[in-house]
Amino acid sequence: MTAPSRIPVLVSLPFPGPLDYAPPPGPPPAPGTFVEVPLGPRRVTGVVWDGAGEGVVPAAKLRPVAAVHDWPAMTARARRFLDWMASYTMNAPGMVLRHFVNAANNDAPAPTTGYRATGRDPERMTPARRKVLDHLAAEGPGTAPAILAATGVSAGVLRGLAEAGAVEPVEIMAAAAAGRRPDPDFALPALSADQRAAADDLAAAVGDGAYHAFLLDGVTGSGKTETYMEAIAAALRLGRQVVVLLPEIALTAAVTERFAGRFGAAPAVWHSDLTPRARKRVWRGVADGSVPLVVGARSALFLPYRSLGLIVVDEEHDQGFKQDDGVAYHGRDMAVVRATIEKCPIVLASATPSLETLANVEAGRYRRLVLPERHGGAVLPEIRVIDMRQNPPERGNFLSPVLTRAMAETMARGEQSLLFLNRRGYAPLTLCRHCGHRIECPNCTAWLVEHRNRRQLACHHCGHVMPIPHACPECGEEDSLVPCGPGVERIEEEVANVLPQARRLVLASDTLGGPLALQAAFDAIAAREVDVVIGTQIVAKGHHFPWLTLVGVVDADLGLDGGDLRAGERIFQLTTQVVGRAGRGERPGHALLQTFDPEAGVIRAIAAHDRDGFVAAEQAARKRHGLPPYGRLVALILSGPDQAEVMTVGRALARTAPRDIDGFDVLGPAPAPMALLRGRWRVRLLVRAPRRLNVQAVLRPWLDAQAIPGRVRLQVDVDPYHFM
Ligand code: ADP
Ligand code: ZN
Repeated sequence: MTAPSRIPVLVSLPFPGPLDYAPPPGPPPAPGTFVEVPLGPRRVTGVVWDGAGEGVVPAAKLRPVAAVHDWPAMTARARRFLDWMASYTMNAPGMVLRHFVNAANNDAPAPTTGYRATGRDPERMTPARRKVLDHLAAEGPGTAPAILAATGVSAGVLRGLAEAGAVEPVEIMAAAAAGRRPDPDFALPALSADQRAAADDLAAAVGDGAYHAFLLDGVTGSGKTETYMEAIAAALRLGRQVVVLLPEIALTAAVTERFAGRFGAAPAVWHSDLTPRARKRVWRGVADGSVPLVVGARSALFLPYRSLGLIVVDEEHDQGFKQDDGVAYHGRDMAVVRATIEKCPIVLASATPSLETLANVEAGRYRRLVLPERHGGAVLPEIRVIDMRQNPPERGNFLSPVLTRAMAETMARGEQSLLFLNRRGYAPLTLCRHCGHRIECPNCTAWLVEHRNRRQLACHHCGHVMPIPHACPECGEEDSLVPCGPGVERIEEEVANVLPQARRLVLASDTLGGPLALQAAFDAIAAREVDVVIGTQIVAKGHHFPWLTLVGVVDADLGLDGGDLRAGERIFQLTTQVVGRAGRGERPGHALLQTFDPEAGVIRAIAAHDRDGFVAAEQAARKRHGLPPYGRLVALILSGPDQAEVMTVGRALARTAPRDIDGFDVLGPAPAPMALLRGRWRVRLLVRAPRRLNVQAVLRPWLDAQAIPGRVRLQVDVDPYHFM
């Protein structure tokens, strides 16, 4: 075999594809190998890609690969997944590569050498050799001292196994290898008949080792987690890896704890708040196979799994899976693609599945497993609507007397209330009583939100902050600024006034110092050290508080007028979720929804627990307008420092848009609702296309033909969820 004269290497930069390099001396690195390559004056990390190379640069001019890393190679399946994702999201593959390698290469301590079983038994088997192989099968790779200590054999036995080809050296992170492996049989649950049936179906699919997609559809508290943990156990028994994706970092602590109880060891956790050292440890552990179970945010999908046996997407309907910045993608959808490529089952779990997923069930692409009842005979909370026009709060307040009375009664019974308002801070808007001026962010089209605890006004989009001024910045009038509308801090103040004896706790992402503080807060609620919890969506899911029996939704209409195509769906899901916090123990729960629009379809459907009715109405409306999941949308977002220039580019795009494709049209350009974001002016176009159309194939030549000035950025968002 002759050595190749050029090697394609993908680097984490926005080139259209891999770049060609001359091979390094020695055996040519195989596709998937991590390498260092020169690029201009720099050296960057890349991955040897598939194919023969681009062939544009003459062989004599190619620069050689500078170094070959000894990290576990990127698997062929991961490379195919990356290529697919780049093509679908219309991003350069190098930009997608960033998601896969961002933790591979940083300055954490170097890995050490350990040993793993090769799967080949030695010709001569002795009890001591058997002991080592059994240990490696159960615990995964380990360092030589750790293996010898655990098995009590001599170093010669290990050396003999290596010479016989039964074990081989492997680079491991000592800390990852030292951790206990999850034990699928650590604490077996007693499942109900429904749970058992679903768990058996999932476990069978895991055993099958092929792609299967499931919707695990169960009301809040029906034991979805309990059920999918059996599928995880099945994958672990087969020595395969599992990843569980959650929509929010805040949920990882609670899930980690439940997994530890079931499997006797904590899973590896993956999210953006990890230290670089922890990131590298998990990345390497996943790559060498010593980490079998990962719980994390959407980015955990890009870890270097060697042999994925199952993917779980919990709360699959949650928009937290959607990434808008950089490479725009939906974590749930990409998880399904990765499952098809890895040939493993995927479980999407939800009490309020997305319309996208329900459409896939209807089309027969996903199998639906139903858990119709709450575990242990608990009943779903009764929901009542408070018509705020008939039972208004006192002037300057936001809680109806109907709600505060119910809270007082709940407290008198020694039970807990939860007030839900999806708005951080004290007040969403500050207004001058004298001149009517509203305090806006200088960088964004957004009001500054008052955070009274921190004595600041803050932008929730760019992070801009300023002290709360004494005088109006516009007219100079002193003490004229008034907060308008409530945030959770203001509701807490009101609770302190109407129920002074109540022990209160505000739960919002910015009032806590991270996942650990959140866990401490949850523990305090479980220990009944709190009477009234006032929280944002952070409290909506994943927790079980047996004494929580009343949920008050402060503003059930919030977001209804947003104009976003999924506004109704999102309110239905979030409200159902938060109402589902009540009455999960022996005491029945109830919920009160404060609304100014009790006749609105979504409010009536929530109150009646009528998911099917809501979904049917929503589906009909989406079908009528050709909206997702029955049609496709692609958002094109142009941004730049000069407003007029951005609009000019937008108009040029619209002028050259393809015209003769049935059902394909382009709306806009129009200034984005968030016309200014982080100091850049934004203009949007929206592409509508029929479901069956390969919309990327239509967009690619159109967008490639545009001459877009360097200062203007075009972001493509296929399947957009946020229309800011
Ligand atoms: P979901 O994910 O559907 O909201 P969970 O799995 O969190 O439901 O279960 C709700 C509560 O019921 C949890 O406290 C869980 O531990 C408990 N539970 C569910 N199924 C069982 C079971 N088979 N045995 C014991 N406890 C269960
Ligand atoms: Zn801002």
